[in-house]
Amino acid sequence: MSNRAIGYDGQRQIGMVIGPVVVLGGGIAGIESSLCLSKQGVRVYLLERRPSLGGNVSFLSKVFPTLDPASDILEGMFKELRSSENVQMMTNVEIKAIERKEEGFELEVLKRPRHVDPNKCTSCGKCAEACPVEYDREHELGIGKRKAIDSPSPKPFPEAFVIDEGACLHFRGEECRACVEACPNDAINLDERPEEIRIQAKALILATGMELFEVSRVKEFGYGRYKDVITSLELERLLDPRGPTGGEVIRPSDRKRPRSVAFVLCAGSRDRRFLRHCCRIGCMTALKQAYEIKELYGDEVEVYICYNDIRASGRMHEEFYQTARGSGIVMLHGIPSEVREKDGKLTLRVFDLGTWKLEELEVDLVVLIPGVNGSSHAKEVGEKLGILVEEDTFFSALDQVRSNETKVDGVFLSGCSAGPMDIASSISHARAAALIVLNYLMKRK
Ligand SMILES: Cc1cc2nc3c(=O)[nH]c(=O)nc-3n(C[C@H](O)[C@H](O)[C@H](O)COP(=O)(O)OP(=O)(O)OC[C@H]3O[C@@H](n4cnc5c(N)ncnc54)[C@H](O)[C@@H]3O)c2cc1C
Repeated sequence: MSNRAIGYDGQRQIGMVIGPVVVLGGGIAGIESSLCLSKQGVRVYLLERRPSLGGNVSFLSKVFPTLDPASDILEGMFKELRSSENVQMMTNVEIKAIERKEEGFELEVLKRPRHVDPNKCTSCGKCAEACPVEYDREHELGIGKRKAIDSPSPKPFPEAFVIDEGACLHFRGEECRACVEACPNDAINLDERPEEIRIQAKALILATGMELFEVSRVKEFGYGRYKDVITSLELERLLDPRGPTGGEVIRPSDRKRPRSVAFVLCAGSRDRRFLRHCCRIGCMTALKQAYEIKELYGDEVEVYICYNDIRASGRMHEEFYQTARGSGIVMLHGIPSEVREKDGKLTLRVFDLGTWKLEELEVDLVVLIPGVNGSSHAKEVGEKLGILVEEDTFFSALDQVRSNETKVDGVFLSGCSAGPMDIASSISHARAAALIVLNYLMKRK
């Protein structure tokens, strides 16, 4: 980070130093809060647990309601980050401790080694070609494969490979240096060690986001038992032109195009046994994906959506719902009691509250739309700071109106750490967090 004391006054830089602020979580909300603060002359440490920024959006293909490519959103943000002098990002980190100080906080951060120098790596892929270890890529249904040294995400930032120590033969005690020998840029360092870093911060923004609910817990839907029952996130990877099938929807069992697909909404959400809350993005995600399948294959593929009720309340969401309905999707007002497999087909029985008839569907592919919960790492962060994680697994905000604030002085919330949101709402929430933190810093100057 530049040591230059700079601030921002509209487009004019002025002499001023504020901060630093630590933003925990490098999804779109964490990035947006960091960029907003940086433009106001605040120094920011943006810390991400994974080897790449981007969070959930890096796994998406297109986004509702506009169907713009998710990569466009991320590329714009990454471009700004590249030219931002005030944001220092660190990926692959773990927060070991957070201590309250008179002036704010001191964080003890463990930076795990990447073993690849991001300044030298050009993502040419020669190391991955040479690597002998291959395994399934995350959310890609066993179709997409990766190597022990590979790109960490479909849309990585920093744009550099990383070694997965858990899979790499060298780190499992074998004599392997295949990647080091293959790299034309001398970017790989197998001797890199973990680093412990101490960071002082005047304020903390928690942008730890959300995760899909572990839907195998809803036993009656057969996820994990039947190959052709998949999640919405897995379907995103199939629909992505840069994904494992080049954008073709196939069913995992025989890798053929399905003739019929059923979406099941509210899998694990609005359910007393699991998550009681509405995930707020499920209806629109299902409509988006169902519409994309119709756009790709038309009448060749029958598409059903089994729903509790459709919640399309965001801007342009109702319009998108109407467009999707007009594309030939069959809407069934009911959630199946069970998914069963019989002779290579999946059967679902749904009582349709619209027609008051019991429907029996036989389909090739079932897509579950799981509920969402807060980050599985939120609780440990909350405990370090004395912030409650609510029963719904999201951080407790100060109150209903002040959803960016917490009861702990100097700690703020950005994006889905405060509850499930779509992209537009996450960005607005992230901007609000930046403004409130700026105000907080100015008062304490
Ligand atoms: C299948 C699916 C489809 C979707 N489709 C759409 C769509 O079409 N349109 C739309 O508007 N929205 C869509 N969404 C919602 C969208 O993904 C979210 O709005 C967005 O991801 C929220 O961003 P975020 O930064 O708040 O959280 P996340 O994306 O969850 O990012 C949080 C980041 O914090 C990191 N983190 C967590 N804990 C820690 C820790 N302790 N330390 C450091 N880092 C940590 C995580 O690794 C992650 O990178 C979809 C979501 C899913 C799951």
